[in-house]
Amino acid sequence: MKTFEKSAKLNYVCYDIRGPVMDEANKMIDQGIDILKLNIGNPAPFGFRAPEELLRLMNENLCNTEGYSDSKGLLSARKSIVEYCRKKGIHQVTTDDVYTGNGVSELITLSMQGLLNPGDEILVPSPDYPLWTASVTLAGGSAVHYICDEQSEWYPDIQDIKSKITSRTKGIVVINPNNPTGALYPRELLLEITELSRQNGLIIFADEIYDRLVLDEEEHVSIASLAPDLLTITFNGLSKSHLIAGYRCGWMCLCGDKSFAKGYVEGINLLSSMRLCSNVPAQSVISAALDMEEETKQLLVPGGRVYEQREYIYHALNAIPGISVVKPKAAFYMFPKIDTKRFQIEDDERFVLDFLKEKQILLTHGGGFHWETPDHFRVVYLPEINQLKTACEKLSDFLSYYKQK
Ligand code: PLP
Repeated sequence: MKTFEKSAKLNYVCYDIRGPVMDEANKMIDQGIDILKLNIGNPAPFGFRAPEELLRLMNENLCNTEGYSDSKGLLSARKSIVEYCRKKGIHQVTTDDVYTGNGVSELITLSMQGLLNPGDEILVPSPDYPLWTASVTLAGGSAVHYICDEQSEWYPDIQDIKSKITSRTKGIVVINPNNPTGALYPRELLLEITELSRQNGLIIFADEIYDRLVLDEEEHVSIASLAPDLLTITFNGLSKSHLIAGYRCGWMCLCGDKSFAKGYVEGINLLSSMRLCSNVPAQSVISAALDMEEETKQLLVPGGRVYEQREYIYHALNAIPGISVVKPKAAFYMFPKIDTKRFQIEDDERFVLDFLKEKQILLTHGGGFHWETPDHFRVVYLPEINQLKTACEKLSDFLSYYKQK
């Protein structure tokens, strides 16, 4: 009897944000149990609405976006993306260097598929946004994790990066602002990363999808703007900044010296053509979206929802005995630490599963972000303060008696 297993290339690929714990939550939902989901950075279910103007425009455009576009995307959209790059100090990008995608996700996978052979290494942060590690692995490469240091605002540890570069390292992934930690990297640190990349001939993969979700009036610096000589691929999109994650709208831009990467660019073009094009109605609003004063900005200042929710949960979590958390400066995530000795935790996935079953609240365990020790979890702080309050009270109560062993 023939059996059908998953392909061998998937053996070491995992994406735990939507993994086994979420499966358990879905079973509970099927049984009619109400679950508070603090596991996915999806603004819409928490009452965040896309800018009206954008929805109106997409609706209007539906009747002239039935056809495929160029594989790289509509020229008008790519022109606006080039303009956006310029505003961020990235000057050498042309419309030919821009590729739109069904979300940044598709392009992350594509960028790795086009580059890697068995044995090739990509430096990926730990903790990471796990699609990066999954995409490197799926493409046949090895993700080598460099540490981001909780003691230093979760910044990448430059010495650790240095120690992990080998002759097989092809690139480095820099997620700034960061998911899951909410860190925002300063210019000096980015300059150190560019210097290491220059010395070692690395391509920089800059995931900047949260660049317009910065709190505390801090400035986001695009790493590509600091090193016009280096090949940098910058990823961005409208899922988070314009609260339209469901419409699947992202892009990547190649900039810097491509002369030594002609083959790679050919590979990217081939893969881009093979998927024909990305969602055209979503592409059709990119220009308007990048022109508009983002409505999300008002969410990020005192009195705005995201700002106030961050303030609330930051203090509430730190007040729970055995929990500590670094204040995030961007995005809508935090990555709290849990005192494993106190709660005798050896398995962080089991911890979030036990919490889910007992209190109907869904978190993601730190291991899901390729964090090695079982002492962290990620919280998405998109729900309203009253829901966050309930979540923190339930966590506090749960931890007052929880012992894993
Ligand atoms: N990169 C990071 C750091 C993310 O957090 C996400 C989604 O949560 C993505 C990329 C993918 O976003 P999308 O595919 O919606 O553009």
